[in-house]
Amino acid sequence: MASGGGIQIPSRLPLLLTHEGVLLPGSTVRFSVDSPRNMHLVSQRLLKGTSLKSTIIGVIPNTRDPEHDTDELPTLHKIGTAGIAVQVVGSNWPKPHYTLLITGLCRFRVSGLLKERPFVLAEVEQLDKLEQYTTSAAEVTAEDGELGELSQKFYQAAVQLLGMLDMSVPVVAKFRRLLDSLPRETLPDVVASMIRTSNKEKLQVLDAVSLEERFKKALSMLTRQIEGLKLLQKTRKMSPDNEKRVLSVRKGGVFPGRQFNLDEEDEGEDGDDTAALERKVHGANMPEAAFRVCLKELKRLKKMPQSMPEYALTRNYLDLMVELPWSKSTKDCLDIHAARTLLDNDHYAMDKLKRRVLEYLAVRQLKTSLKGPILCFVGPPGVGKTSVGRSIARTLGREFHRIAVGGVCDQSDIRGHRRTYVGSMPGRIINGLKTVGVNNPVFLLDEVDKLGKSLQGDPAAALLEVLDPEQNHSFTDHYLNVAFDLSQVLFIATANTTATIPPALLDRMEVLQVPGYTQEEKVEIAHRHLIPNQLEQHGLTPQQLHIPQETTQDIISRYTREAGVRSLERKIGAICRAVAVKVAEGHRIPKMEPLTPEKSSQQGDIQASPPEMPIVIDQVALKDILGPPVFEMEVSERLTLPGVAIGLAWTPLGGEIMFVEASRTEGEGQLTLTGQLGDVMKESAHLAISWLRANAKTYQLTNMVGGPNPSEGTDIHLHFPAGAVTKDGPSAGVTIVTCLASLFSGRLVRSDVAMTGEITLRGLVLPVGGIKDKVLAAHRAGVKRVILPKRNEKDLEELPANVRANLDFVAASNLDEVLNASFDGGFPGTTSTLAHPQLSSKL
Ligand code: ADP
Repeated sequence: MASGGGIQIPSRLPLLLTHEGVLLPGSTVRFSVDSPRNMHLVSQRLLKGTSLKSTIIGVIPNTRDPEHDTDELPTLHKIGTAGIAVQVVGSNWPKPHYTLLITGLCRFRVSGLLKERPFVLAEVEQLDKLEQYTTSAAEVTAEDGELGELSQKFYQAAVQLLGMLDMSVPVVAKFRRLLDSLPRETLPDVVASMIRTSNKEKLQVLDAVSLEERFKKALSMLTRQIEGLKLLQKTRKMSPDNEKRVLSVRKGGVFPGRQFNLDEEDEGEDGDDTAALERKVHGANMPEAAFRVCLKELKRLKKMPQSMPEYALTRNYLDLMVELPWSKSTKDCLDIHAARTLLDNDHYAMDKLKRRVLEYLAVRQLKTSLKGPILCFVGPPGVGKTSVGRSIARTLGREFHRIAVGGVCDQSDIRGHRRTYVGSMPGRIINGLKTVGVNNPVFLLDEVDKLGKSLQGDPAAALLEVLDPEQNHSFTDHYLNVAFDLSQVLFIATANTTATIPPALLDRMEVLQVPGYTQEEKVEIAHRHLIPNQLEQHGLTPQQLHIPQETTQDIISRYTREAGVRSLERKIGAICRAVAVKVAEGHRIPKMEPLTPEKSSQQGDIQASPPEMPIVIDQVALKDILGPPVFEMEVSERLTLPGVAIGLAWTPLGGEIMFVEASRTEGEGQLTLTGQLGDVMKESAHLAISWLRANAKTYQLTNMVGGPNPSEGTDIHLHFPAGAVTKDGPSAGVTIVTCLASLFSGRLVRSDVAMTGEITLRGLVLPVGGIKDKVLAAHRAGVKRVILPKRNEKDLEELPANVRANLDFVAASNLDEVLNASFDGGFPGTTSTLAHPQLSSKL
């Protein structure tokens, strides 16, 4: 407590306008400020000034709530306390504000305002003459007249109060020391700020400019305090329960900015809050280590004033800790029969996936704690990966939560931020647990193939810890800083491709491929699941809307081109919306007498009759709602010139057909490649040209003027649409060869043939990946024959029977066979010129 010594306060003081708490000379109070004027005072005066004088400000109490003082200056209380700002803390949370710790020096009276903006500056007159206060309270004798008598009485009362308090509490001991060393004139202020007094009472003490009056006011408060304490001690003797309360009263008691809490109702909301929190901590059933951390934080919280920024941080932390499901779990109710039925009911097709999921669940049932691999569903978007995950949760009777990890490039997203940062948060795993409220949910980690990497650490490494059954029983989130047991959580991951999943992560997972659907499967899925779902979501019934199978087929082939069924679902949604409007319009028309044809024709324009139910979506209606078709099936249109061939490509979004185009002009034998090709693809083009040049004679290939070397005096241009998409990989090799062979021979490639395969310089065809998706894409596009490497023949077994039946497969082991199968009537110079070589297999 500063006695002020001989400090003379400046005659012009910036004023801090407060509406809560009263600063008295000799005490230290913490103020939280956020109104514009006060904020300017802090930023422009306190933080910029360098001298001691610049830290002295005037604190004017009892101002109207500063939130409202933005425009007009409210009427100011005339007397205030000049004080030194001993600490300034700024924070942006929950809104920009400063917390000031101010020690009061002396009273002043505002004699005139100098300016109101950006902060209030006033001419002041110092009221307490600090240098006159010399006598220490203990030395005062009764000779000093009435004032002396008063101060003596006051001193004795203060000593009496101290006698009733617990001296082992450090603040009480400090008070005792201060009492003996402070000048007597400062005692009323210091004591009034320490004992339990309301703001109104403190204001009375502040306004008491004459010492006698001040002593009188403070003495009556002190006496009341002593009486209150006496009463309390009496009741404590009667009921031992109160022991605790008195202790807490004493602890919270003599502390700057805080008062004795004598009456129970005075404990205030804060006390109740922390007590409730404490009860929750005890009831949260958390492990020993976490419990100890919580108790420690609680202890800190109790000592902190609410206005301190750290208070909110600690409070949030504790709230999270008590909310986490440390030992709350749902009971697994697994019945394999029911699971099979549920999976079958929810999903059409995908038999292999469903079989594997059932196996997984069966093992779980037999062996309760499963430390098996994490299932990872890999496939194009919209093939039902997420929805299978959701079904698994339902079959187990567990909570389901999806965590999108695509694009996460900071490991704190997974593992949380340390609490030292402002605005720190727990990671997504802990957040997810808080959301579901049990410790054994099904977590679907969506898009693990799109994890990023940055300077803030590798999120894949953090995920490894989460997924590893050896480690995850003590997963430590940086924010929590205590271990949480994740071993009961069932993790499932999804991805579009395994290529970009970090290898260490991939190693922990069992990859289940979910391929795209065939046209027929899509029709079934649409009629069994998508249409009923969409009808329900739009408040329609099958009696109101009917989509025939042919329309669904049309939507699939002419309005969508995808491996999954997501845009199909969207298109059906669009139809439902359009029909919903019609149905709603129909409802508005009051029931009328059935119209005779005559009547209806007369009134038709004015009052439309309700639409006939159900509304059937035919070709015309489809075009009306969805617009003209987006895709045309006709592949053959494109192949009217020599030098075009259809290849098959694989992308994370499923298979695709790809046209390869070639042209030649007179030149110096240069090769131009366009269409954003990667290095491997460029090399394939060079390989193809070399092989064709080497075999030009055999296949009767010529250059532009009919010469035997096809590239002599000729520039060749190869293009791979679509030009904006980057392409790479070796599997276009056979397509490039075919396309160039067509160019050099002037013969057309068959319009209904698509192909894939890597080539070598010797003309061999090597196996490639993604056969299933590629074949499905060819089937979608209406291709009839697919040429693929011989060693990929085994992959065809995974295809649905109807796709196999509709396509003619040619398994080629060398380029000779490829060329032979690509041209009508075979290719000149090939060993076999049969339209269907013996190698062709119809599976
Ligand atoms: P993904 O996670 O693979 O991108 P979703 O699980 O979100 O795809 O599936 C998209 C929509 O398609 C969902 O409404 C889902 O119910 C539906 N769906 C996908 N496959 C099937 C299927 N085999 N049977 C029934 N509905 C399916």
